[in-house]
Amino acid sequence: MQNIDPGEIAKFESLASRWWDPDSEFAPLHQINPLRLNYIAERVELGGTRTLDVGCGGGILSESLWSKGADVTGIDAGAAPIGVARLHARGNGAQIDYRHTTIEALQEQHEPPFDLICCLEMLEHVPEPARTVRACAQMLTPGGNIFFSTINRNPKSFLFAIVGAEYLLSLLPRGTHHYEKLIRPSELDLWAREASLNLDAITGMHYNPITNHYRLGPGVDVNYIAHYRKPLTS
Ligand code: SAH
Repeated sequence: MQNIDPGEIAKFESLASRWWDPDSEFAPLHQINPLRLNYIAERVELGGTRTLDVGCGGGILSESLWSKGADVTGIDAGAAPIGVARLHARGNGAQIDYRHTTIEALQEQHEPPFDLICCLEMLEHVPEPARTVRACAQMLTPGGNIFFSTINRNPKSFLFAIVGAEYLLSLLPRGTHHYEKLIRPSELDLWAREASLNLDAITGMHYNPITNHYRLGPGVDVNYIAHYRKPLTS
């Protein structure tokens, strides 16, 4: 059984042509990208690092990792986002291996493991996120680093990430996020620990609607990004 929600993939496919338009539905991804890229770059060596971007979409993070010297493979279950990602990379001369596939399929095909895996803003769109976490952990080299970002599930995140972002501010299309699919940090941590990953750090991503600015900082009650490591020996 594939760990894909076809309705979710269809949503991203229908918007894909606008992926690189910084004023489009993807504006929030463009705005948070420098923050999350810096966070990753401060915590791991990117130069020459064999890196996998899971659910890469049109490649906003993938290209930025590549620009820092990482050796990047980007995978996405949507054909249209991968098509957009390939075209954009070609325009920029970015050497990125984009594939229309899933982490579970890579694993079945015995793809060699990666030293760095990023799975950002994707877990809340899959049917079985625990399975995605497990497959990612298995595709990581011992000692490797992995980053997950998603949205917490509580009344505040409902108000900010769904009512605020989708209905009041129209930052995202309505229906982008489903409350019951949001993920508490404790849930992510349980799945990660079951997959033998150790938490290194976790931080919040905060949006200020008055200044239209994002920042990283303490407080993981809405958006957050977590850094895990796979032990050298398990
Ligand atoms: N990670 C990117 C894009 C996030 S949008 C970023 O943060 O910039 C979520 C992406 O996940 C979409 O492109 C969607 O097609 C993809 N996706 C959803 N379910 C997936 C799955 N099971 N496997 C791979 N990609 C998936």
